[in-house]
Amino acid sequence: MPMDRDQFEALVADEASAERYLLRHCWENHQRFCPRCKSRKNYRLKSGRRRCARCRYTFQDFSGRWINNCNLSCRDWLRVMNLFAAEATARQVSLELGLSYNTAYKAVNTLRFAIMAHALDAKQLLGEQSCLGLTLSGRMLKDRPGPCGKVETPVFGIMDRREWVFVDLVPGFDAETILHFQLNFQLGLVRQGNVIYTDRYQRYDTLICCLGGSPAADYVRSSRRGVSIDTAPEGFWSYAGQRLLKYHGVTPQRFPLYLKELEFRYNSRTRELLPLLAACVCDLVPDFS
Ligand SMILES: [Zn+2]
Repeated sequence: MPMDRDQFEALVADEASAERYLLRHCWENHQRFCPRCKSRKNYRLKSGRRRCARCRYTFQDFSGRWINNCNLSCRDWLRVMNLFAAEATARQVSLELGLSYNTAYKAVNTLRFAIMAHALDAKQLLGEQSCLGLTLSGRMLKDRPGPCGKVETPVFGIMDRREWVFVDLVPGFDAETILHFQLNFQLGLVRQGNVIYTDRYQRYDTLICCLGGSPAADYVRSSRRGVSIDTAPEGFWSYAGQRLLKYHGVTPQRFPLYLKELEFRYNSRTRELLPLLAACVCDLVPDFS
């Protein structure tokens, strides 16, 4: 749900009010603590920054937080979040706010990572053992090949409980697993561009995967009969299916970001998104190592 227009305009009326709003999401009751060691003892330097009395770390209000990842003013951050809440693309954000495309893309992607970091399975998705080729190293997000030295094609299971949807990483599965189920167990499958999704599998309504350059990609064809999820009259798939499939050029590495974004949007569909996005992006970047 978008925020009321007048309410939003008041937030971005000037930089000070935008900053106040974001700081509320960073520091509960204005209590500053060291982002490194969590000690509450610190003193203010002449520069306005603070130094931890215990570990000597020098920090400012956004240090160690997702929001520190881009060089944007607080007003611009709020404007990016407001447009993202309305499902604007990075290109639309760049045009609307007069930002370079790279800056807009970085900000939008930072929002996606911050959302993913708050998912229940964040540790699996972003931790050391992550098979996504994405890892948080020194609190910066890095692309890297998976543990086997190649980019894998992780499989996600979607469990739609109407009120809530769960989009889980299915450990140990990849595109080849799905191909094997199709060939040997007649599991129904639909292929749309890079993305494949299946009929019901165990507790999941569908298994979904982005093929990318996987060796299995050449062999995967849609089954003759469709899959049950495509005929569901309502629920997550009718909301997310078309949105997901429009990312034609998406890579297996970026695909989980879009999936988790849609899970977040669907599960928050009756709530105002801006405060939720602000809470995600103002949070400390977790250390999953
Ligand atoms: Zn400290």
